[in-house]
Amino acid sequence: AAVKALARREATRNSSVSFRAMANLAAYEDFGKNVFAGKVADEYLQKHGASKATLDDPNWVNTDADKVANAVFDWAIDRGANVYCHWFQPMASSGVRHGLTGQVQNMMFKFNSDYEVVQDFKGKTLIKGETDGSSFPNGGLRGTHCAGGYLALDTSSPILCRGDTIFIPSAFVSYYGAALDEKTPLLRSNAALDKHGARLFTLLGGDASSGIQANIGLEQEMFLIPRDQYYRRPDLQLTGRTIMGKNAPRGQEMCDHYMAPLSSATSALAAMQEMQDECWRMGMPLKTRHREVAPNQFEFAPLFGSNTTQIDQNVFIMQIIEEVAAKHGLAALLQEKPFNDVNGSGKHNNWSIATSSGINFLAPDEVIEETGNDEAFAVIMAALVAAIDEHGDLMRAAIANPGNDFRLGACEAPPAIMSTYLGDDMTSYLEAFMNGSSAKYEPGTKTLDLGTKEVMPFQVPAEDRNRTSPFPYGGARFEFRSVGSAQNVSLVNTVLNTIAAEKFAAFADRIEAGENPADIAREALKKHWKVIFNGDNYDVENQKMLTESGVWRIDSGVEAISVLSTEKNVALFEKMNVFTGTELTARQDVLHDHYTGTVEMEALCMIDMINQHVIPSVKESEVGPLDELAASITTLKAGVAEIHAAESSVDKAQLARVLRLETMIDIRAICDAAEEVVPAENWTLATYKELLFLD
Ligand code: ADP
Ligand code: MG
Repeated sequence: AAVKALARREATRNSSVSFRAMANLAAYEDFGKNVFAGKVADEYLQKHGASKATLDDPNWVNTDADKVANAVFDWAIDRGANVYCHWFQPMASSGVRHGLTGQVQNMMFKFNSDYEVVQDFKGKTLIKGETDGSSFPNGGLRGTHCAGGYLALDTSSPILCRGDTIFIPSAFVSYYGAALDEKTPLLRSNAALDKHGARLFTLLGGDASSGIQANIGLEQEMFLIPRDQYYRRPDLQLTGRTIMGKNAPRGQEMCDHYMAPLSSATSALAAMQEMQDECWRMGMPLKTRHREVAPNQFEFAPLFGSNTTQIDQNVFIMQIIEEVAAKHGLAALLQEKPFNDVNGSGKHNNWSIATSSGINFLAPDEVIEETGNDEAFAVIMAALVAAIDEHGDLMRAAIANPGNDFRLGACEAPPAIMSTYLGDDMTSYLEAFMNGSSAKYEPGTKTLDLGTKEVMPFQVPAEDRNRTSPFPYGGARFEFRSVGSAQNVSLVNTVLNTIAAEKFAAFADRIEAGENPADIAREALKKHWKVIFNGDNYDVENQKMLTESGVWRIDSGVEAISVLSTEKNVALFEKMNVFTGTELTARQDVLHDHYTGTVEMEALCMIDMINQHVIPSVKESEVGPLDELAASITTLKAGVAEIHAAESSVDKAQLARVLRLETMIDIRAICDAAEEVVPAENWTLATYKELLFLD
């Protein structure tokens, strides 16, 4: 059937040029060719005395690096690539304007003494690179006088090829091995999860010999707006969000954007097709595409997989989105809140834990069948409930991206209160278990009967969906819904893995000491039950109730970042070998500086826009709040000066937050009032109408 379908596609493609352009089928047989993995890699590895099995043991970097390098070289040349780079993710990198990865691109050749071109790409070139560690955010871990940094190949994520370059996923550390990047702590947290997940799973009767890993699927939201209008917005160009702008008369009133047709009349569909095409060539399964809730807002979702691969793919997907959008006359906005009063963008981080052979810890039937232990699933869930309750502060810290300031709690994303939704069915099961029942979990089934013959009654899951919860369980996975669209989600997953690993370790220690697993789980559920909340998280009364019950709530992102170095959290990360105390303090400083830098750019941009656009428009038109605008410039400059004068990273960030969320919001209102009265022909900035309505 597949062959037939292919033949059919082939025929369609050859027969209809316009259909081919629209349906994006051209690269079908090229899908996956630009990732050095599986069958594609095997073909090249075989020629050099290795095979795809060679790549399964990370120790190939010591035993077979030359063979692999030769295979990679041939594979690259066949794709027209002759350049390589070690490709890394600097600390606190986020996706507002190409900021996501670092790379130095090198030719894979040299001249020999006869000036013949020969291969200059060996095993040792492939597995390690050296670079400058001081020019990236490092929180004091490196200096210009002690700048050495190293790039080491990450065997868990495959090499990618795009254009003339191959990208070697790498960890980036200082001369002393301190993590300067997003990937290193993630890899360490994977090791902790593997170790303690395997211990617990084995004690519960399961087979963990294949190893334990976290799987994630990252839904990527974004805006695509007309590029000519984007060039009329210095704020979007420089900071990724509109710092001013009166609402358009139309917004989300009709609920007519979400999942609406991806109209071929605009370039958005063609752009999304090309983005998918590029991604599929590189083995990145960008499966789902649709419009999102706000005008000109869209989403892509891949098929989930192991976290290092998914995160590497996601940072590439974000780059491809930006670049391909430009080719289609569009600008992609990945920032969390580009526009006021319409929805912002998130990146739902779907997360599950599984054996590498595929038994999902979060799928009750799989766990019970594998372990032959009816209580095993409840024990795992109890450990996770305890982890969320105890370490919700870290989950909050991990989503404290500057753009998320405008989303969390604004009734489009869950509030900054870290509860979890388990659903009625699962909750009553765990409650019964907590109170002594040892029955196994039997998910309820539900039949929907529409009362028609034509649509037959059908089965639906027992659980509803709760889109107001920051961390709902969805049967087989948790979905961290508060994550920001621009984030590199490594820290998010580092936190999830570490807090799970710690609880798995604590449970395993006690079981090994002779305690009964179910008793430990019951005790944990009793202690941490408050964190389970199935109701409406947008409701203010509920928020009050959750806050009073002691569920972690940290409204300020700046304050949330500060929890990285509390005594509890340093102990946690050190115990799990994920971060040292020094690395945590450095990272905290970097995140605060990142926040401050973001706000400073926004404030300076606002000053320029008022001086260069708003004031001239108001003068020209002889309407509007001229004096207030002039005073605003003074206020903004004083605000920036005050930040500069502050001593520590955290002090600066705290002042920046007030400037951004109080002062700048007041000043924006003055600018927007001016926009309301200035005649259109005198208004020089692109308006929300021009930015948000592509078609
Ligand atoms: P929804 O609207 O329910 O959030 P989407 O299709 O938009 O669904 O996205 C769901 C994401 O979750 C996809 O990336 C999918 O691959 C991923 N996912 C599904 N199951 C799992 C799992 N067990 N572990 C991790 N991610 C998963
Ligand atoms: Mg989702």
